[in-house]
Formats: sequence, C-alpha cells, structure tokens
Amino acid sequence: MAHKRKIAVVRCDITAEACPGTGCFKAFNERKVHFSNYDENTEMAAFFTCGGCPGRRVYRLARSLKKSGIDTVHLSSCMLMENYPKCPHVDSIKETFENAGFKIVEGTHH
Ligand code: SF4
Repeated sequence: MAHKRKIAVVRCDITAEACPGTGCFKAFNERKVHFSNYDENTEMAAFFTCGGCPGRRVYRLARSLKKSGIDTVHLSSCMLMENYPKCPHVDSIKETFENAGFKIVEGTHH
C-alpha cells in the first residue's frame, strides 16, 4: 500500500460551538475546494480547535502533530472569512505552525 500523506485542520474554537465540522469533512471526503489536490492516499489525521483566543493550544498541538507524521495544516475557512467572527490572531497561528515546519493551506470548504 502506498504511503499515506497525513493532513490536519485547525479551526476556530468560537465557531466550533455551533459547527460540527461537516463542511470541512465533506469537502475533504469529496476532495473539493482547498482539498482538491489530494489523492486517495491522503488522510485527515487530525481536526481540532485553536483552543480559544489567541490560539491557546496551537503551540502544544503543533508538537504533537509532528510526532504523528502530519505535514500540512489547513486553516479552516471560518478562521479566514469575514462573515464568521473575524480571527484577530490568524497570522500568529499560521506563523506558529510554519515555524514548527508545517506547510500551511489557507482554507477548507469555502
Ligand atoms: S484565536 Fe481566532 S480561531 Fe481561535 S477562537 Fe479566537 S477568533 Fe477563533
């Protein structure tokens, strides 16, 4: 079997109160929008919230994602769009993942 590529999604803790993540998973399962470049050997290996402003869990989770062999982190669409609570910390969250060696993709299902 081919080696699995592992990706993850970080999403907004505030939005997650009202969102079960179905839009993100549907887009991934159908390889649409920001997941369209992945083949069937790609696995959604982690899906988590930032932990609340200002991205409380991000630094610690980045370390554990590394150990799991994940190489790419998507910033969820809800973190990036104007019609959700606009994230004032998205740049620092992105930087934390980049500094930990992850490739960042901006967006999931929008
Ligand atoms: S840091 Fe951004 S993504 Fe995280 S809870 Fe706050 S607004 Fe949402």
